[in-house]
Amino acid sequence: MTEQTNPFESFQEQVDDAAASVDAKDGVITRLKNPERVLETNLTFERDDGSLETVRAYRSQFNGDRGPYKGGIRYHPGVTRDEVKALSGWMAYKCAVVDVPYGGGKGGIAIDPSDYSESELERLTRSFAKELRPIIGEDRDIPAPDVNTGQREMNWIKDTYETLENTTAPGVITGKAIDSGGSEGRVEATGRSVALAARETFDWLDRDLAGASVAVQGYGNAGSVAAALIDELGGNVVAVSDSSGGIHAPEGLDPRAVKEHKTETGAVSGYGDAASITNEELLTMDVDLLVPAALENAINGDLAADVAADVIVEAANGPLTPRADDVLVENGVHVVPDIFANAGGVTVSYFEWVQNRQRFYWTESRVNEELERIITEAFDGIIDAYEGRDVRDLRTAAYVVAIGRIVDAYGQAGSWP
Ligand code: GLU
Repeated sequence: MTEQTNPFESFQEQVDDAAASVDAKDGVITRLKNPERVLETNLTFERDDGSLETVRAYRSQFNGDRGPYKGGIRYHPGVTRDEVKALSGWMAYKCAVVDVPYGGGKGGIAIDPSDYSESELERLTRSFAKELRPIIGEDRDIPAPDVNTGQREMNWIKDTYETLENTTAPGVITGKAIDSGGSEGRVEATGRSVALAARETFDWLDRDLAGASVAVQGYGNAGSVAAALIDELGGNVVAVSDSSGGIHAPEGLDPRAVKEHKTETGAVSGYGDAASITNEELLTMDVDLLVPAALENAINGDLAADVAADVIVEAANGPLTPRADDVLVENGVHVVPDIFANAGGVTVSYFEWVQNRQRFYWTESRVNEELERIITEAFDGIIDAYEGRDVRDLRTAAYVVAIGRIVDAYGQAGSWP
């Protein structure tokens, strides 16, 4: 029987694993395993044919001890209350690992956006923004893009919020287009931190990323940018996939050309002379580096037993189940966790918010330099925790760092003796 995994249970198990190595009261840990509140709402919007449709949407505000809630909004048919709760928890720990002054949040609408026209998506997004308006704000909760959302949706949410509040408040949301107050480098930021995480990990392991074989599962914003930047660092991207399947070329693919092919045709398959492979074949390919960049639970315990990569850098949120982690630790595979590796997105969201607050905008090279500093410092902090404490893997080490920061902020607020 295949393993059925609820992402919120996976998340709680990860926190429990790390809590064993942290000096904090049980009550505090329980608090750090559950969101402070969850908005569940039904959004009714008009279809182009004049009919009305109602869909389910959520916003989970996980933890505000270190600053405003922060995290994306995804549009996907698999969105559930528990998925959004898990994703909001991962955001809280992610912000703490890279030490950006935010708590965690996440939202989602349970739809397949490809079923709707652009004007339908605009009406739906504005309807969600109206529901969110009382609970978001520059100092309260700051949404951002996630799966199947991007600058367009962020611009609509900003405009709805500013119109209703009769003000200008670009920092209410990040991931906006540049002319709407977005930041240089934000679109590439998630993939950039994945590439930096791969570079730092290979250095730490005394291995060369130059010439290393790389497979990337998922070719959206995170996966395609990570592939291109790893290629720039000398990695040899031999296989990539998306929901329609994968492609493999042992001599190496041109990640940017594959992206263009996907933009034109809607899928990576059919690119050049590359051989067709399944997602499962990609995930079990004998490569130096595997980058899961799609959705949760891509690798479960059964599949993990067949993983042949030496290093996994998680670009997606929650791509490995806890059973997969157990198997991979046992097999000596190094897993670089999502809450660190993909934190470039929220880090440059933080830069965007700072720029919005100051009304002073940075160059792309400044953004990328500050991002590199934050990611390399966070990596060193994780390695210190991994080598200095008796923890089993880098994920646990990252949680130990993050839990320490959140618990300190909570304690310093005087909330508990
Ligand atoms: N959705 C992204 C993530 O999962 C970015 C969140 C943000 O920028 O707030 O990290």
